Amino acid sequence: MHKDLWNSVLSQISRSIDANRFETWFRPLTLVDNADPTVMILSAPNNFIADFLDQHYKNTILSTAKQFKHNLKEVSFTVSERDLSDSPPAHPEKKPQPLPPVNHVNTSHPSAQLNKRFTLDSFVIGPNNQFARSAALAVAEAPGKTKFNPLLIYGGVGLGKTHLLQSIGNYALSNIPGIVVTYISSEEFYLNFIDAIAKNNTKSFTSVFRSSDVLLMDDIQFFSGKESTQEEFFHIFNTLHQNGKQIVLTSDLPPSSLRGLQDRLISRFQWGLSVDIQPPDLETRVAILKKRADEGNLDISLDILYYIAENVSSNIRELEGVVIRLLAYASITHSDISFDLVKTVLKDSVKKETKRVSINDIIEAVSEYYNIPVNNIRDKNRHKEVAFSRQVAMYISKSITSNSLKTIGLNFGGRDHSTVIYAVQQIEQLIKKDDSVSKDVNYIISSLK
Ligand code: ADP
Ligand code: MG
Repeated sequence: MHKDLWNSVLSQISRSIDANRFETWFRPLTLVDNADPTVMILSAPNNFIADFLDQHYKNTILSTAKQFKHNLKEVSFTVSERDLSDSPPAHPEKKPQPLPPVNHVNTSHPSAQLNKRFTLDSFVIGPNNQFARSAALAVAEAPGKTKFNPLLIYGGVGLGKTHLLQSIGNYALSNIPGIVVTYISSEEFYLNFIDAIAKNNTKSFTSVFRSSDVLLMDDIQFFSGKESTQEEFFHIFNTLHQNGKQIVLTSDLPPSSLRGLQDRLISRFQWGLSVDIQPPDLETRVAILKKRADEGNLDISLDILYYIAENVSSNIRELEGVVIRLLAYASITHSDISFDLVKTVLKDSVKKETKRVSINDIIEAVSEYYNIPVNNIRDKNRHKEVAFSRQVAMYISKSITSNSLKTIGLNFGGRDHSTVIYAVQQIEQLIKKDDSVSKDVNYIISSLK
């Protein structure tokens, strides 16, 4: 295809889509010479843009280009390796935009990460998650058009937050033509953002998020203490919110308890609706088990399902783990699911479930032991006894969890890591000198296990 033809295609497309989107996705493209007249190859400045176009706009480009070149059969994308700064502008009538450098974040577009299994239909409703599910449905049906913006879903590990979050994306994608949904975990966002900074490429990285209709951001507690990432997310949040785009977030804590996040972010999280998911009751656990067993064509009697549900109560991921292991055993041994088999499988899973103690658990245990309110331990109270109990809690956090000094500090009202080091040294010395301190510490640690 000739460059002039490509320019006609571009200006045709620019008339049919939003100007911002055009600037982000189409403006940086250049046509690559190739011998095959039925194939059009377009060069994008980075993988993000190439993947995004491939998923969302390939057909638009193909059908538009066909109007100008009837024998065209295919559009494909490459990532340019050369310096594009002196190539002719894609749009001669406007000044070329400075193009981001090549060699970019090597990640496919985040919407590719939506798991098709996570749907509203496969989500079992119980009293523990009813409200969260209704809110998710409302948002999925009319993204950006309800008062639930942002919608924040919070609750403990393995209770269905990610499932519900991705359900919203899957629902919107299958019901609203052309909608752009972006899913990303906060950890991935952070890692890719850091990478983009290093490669001087933050603009094209964040453009993916800015041009979403629905942004699904998982586990925002992970942003704790990550200032520049929070800063960037703050701006993305504002852009989307102002443009009436839907934002859905998940977190392991209610917004008011999120430590290490900027106040202005937390207050924005509270603009819309926060809903929690609680651990499921017995009936719901049985219903979830039944659904999973049916999906795996696994024939398990109801009394065995009840038995499993009674023994695994904390976490739905664990429940599913049991079903998966039963499936494996049953297919290896070609035997039916018996009580004996279930007991063996459960014994394994209980061993694996050795409790992971959180800093929160530690603060609570210390608070109970010394009879000092949790809030006093966390905040700036300098009273001698409070300060001592806080140091004990920091010491135990360092000793029995794998959290960094920085994270530990953040859990104690945003204190610096040097404060944590000091506390750990203080308590280490006291343990050597003073039997009663070492008894205290050992008692609290054993109460946690
Ligand atoms: P979280 O993100 O809260 O840690 P997930 O959403 O990853 O938890 O859920 C863990 C597993 O439990 C997933 O496989 C999910 O499909 C399943 N699950 C959670 N809640 C439900 C539910 N209400 N109905 C069916 N499956 C569920
Ligand atoms: Mg999750």
